[in-house]
Amino acid sequence: MTSFFRMAGLAAGVWLAATSAEAQSFPERQITMIVPFAAGGPTDTVGRLIAEKMSADLGQQIIVENVGGAGGTLGAGRTASAEADGYTMLLHHIGMATSATLYRKLAYDPLNDFDYVGLVTEVPMTIVARKDFEPADMKAFVSYVKENADQITLANAGIGAASHLCGMLLMSALEAPIVTVPYKGTGPAMTDLLGGQVDIMCDQTTNTTEQIKGGTIKGYAVTTPERLAIFPDMPTAAEGGLEGFEVSVWHGIYVPKGTPADVTSRLSASLQKALADPEIANRLGELGTTPSPAADATPEALKAKLESEIARWKPVIEAAGVYAD
Ligand code: ASP
Repeated sequence: MTSFFRMAGLAAGVWLAATSAEAQSFPERQITMIVPFAAGGPTDTVGRLIAEKMSADLGQQIIVENVGGAGGTLGAGRTASAEADGYTMLLHHIGMATSATLYRKLAYDPLNDFDYVGLVTEVPMTIVARKDFEPADMKAFVSYVKENADQITLANAGIGAASHLCGMLLMSALEAPIVTVPYKGTGPAMTDLLGGQVDIMCDQTTNTTEQIKGGTIKGYAVTTPERLAIFPDMPTAAEGGLEGFEVSVWHGIYVPKGTPADVTSRLSASLQKALADPEIANRLGELGTTPSPAADATPEALKAKLESEIARWKPVIEAAGVYAD
């Protein structure tokens, strides 16, 4: 071995030792979980529940930072350019996949600028309205919105948000161009729906269940193929007259590309523990949300899901011809 190769080998050995020492001691300080929507919304609710459980397992606090705006792409962009050390992670939803097509100029590459921790939940959506919205049921909603589209406002969390995707599907199913009102998250959108400043919204059960049950908003339909146990009397969108209307949200946790593999594995193991916690299952269950099975709280499962969802939504978005730019 020449002295050059001996030196290089030595340097590589030192680097490897440093890397695994770093992973063994990870985490040594607080971690930031970026939620790319405003506080009080569905992504925030899932993020805070998971962050609390993972903090207990990791022995370090996970601080949730809400970086809302541009349908979740600002928070995702912030994560992509953060230090790849495991101290910044992103909890994002289906928007990670739809933004890949909706934004023709994105500051990051959803598939190549991140490493993956794992899948977190599956969440149904609901079509809801302010509590004094006229139609009595989903069938009446369909004809009323078709007839009055130009006078109805539809809240969403910006292009790329799940509420935007669902709203886009709704407009195309109803063949009705409704005026949309973007927010930094459906947390603040819900405040305006409760106040009657906006008429309708399509949002995750995590954000709508308590309001529907409390009668402070009207729930018209669920977006899943089957009815939900938490709302046995609420029809599916298909039963209500929108055949083939189906969308479910899923969440995943990402870290910047280049995060050491053992750090990512530590985070995945912690996520798996959090999801197996009965308290998480109960709380999410009450909100109509299903924690991902441990086998899916892995980098491989999240990567596969992201790839398949990008491929699934690309033709739908291209057919709709709606882009953010
Ligand atoms: N997840 C919501 C959406 O995509 C936004 C939010 O979490 O506030 O519409």
